[in-house]
Amino acid sequence: MWSWSNVLTPWDVKQYAYCPVIPWIAWNYGFREPETYSMVRGREERRQRLLKLQEMDFTPPIRIDVQLYSQRFKLAGVADAITGGRRHTVVEVKAFKRKKYNHFRVQLMVYALLSEEVLGPTIRAALILGSRLKLWDVTLEALMETKRLVLKTRAAVESERPPRTQLSGKCLSCWYRRFCPYH
Ligand code: SF4
Repeated sequence: MWSWSNVLTPWDVKQYAYCPVIPWIAWNYGFREPETYSMVRGREERRQRLLKLQEMDFTPPIRIDVQLYSQRFKLAGVADAITGGRRHTVVEVKAFKRKKYNHFRVQLMVYALLSEEVLGPTIRAALILGSRLKLWDVTLEALMETKRLVLKTRAAVESERPPRTQLSGKCLSCWYRRFCPYH
């Protein structure tokens, strides 16, 4: 038996890649950034783009909002879409294009790891950023790297002390700054 409160999610790992203190705050203080107006707008845009996946070059069937849970990693998430019958492509849809998207790639690879664990061979990861499409092969090396990151995130959120991090320009606009032990 599991609940969302005791499993790690791709969101935690994505935030860990961005700043490891953020998932530590979320787990230890229970705070999450409230939804902003642009997030609400983005949600509707994202929904429209998900509907258009049928028109893109993905192998059917296309399953939307796929719930995935790995007992082994105590990791769970809802993938935006998973395509293909035997060899899967995992798809993450963001409403708008971004200049920096490495943390989204990290999140997507966590979904790829979940898909590999739960559904079987997962060969590609697709990130849709507005009208742009980024594709990556899901290699053994990428999966191993993602597993290491999941384990590091687990260790960070379960630690009594906040993880070490480098303060940088991103701290200036960080919503979590008010709870951050380094400020
Ligand atoms: S203020 Fe900086 S160090 Fe603190 S949580 Fe935000 S990004 Fe991380």
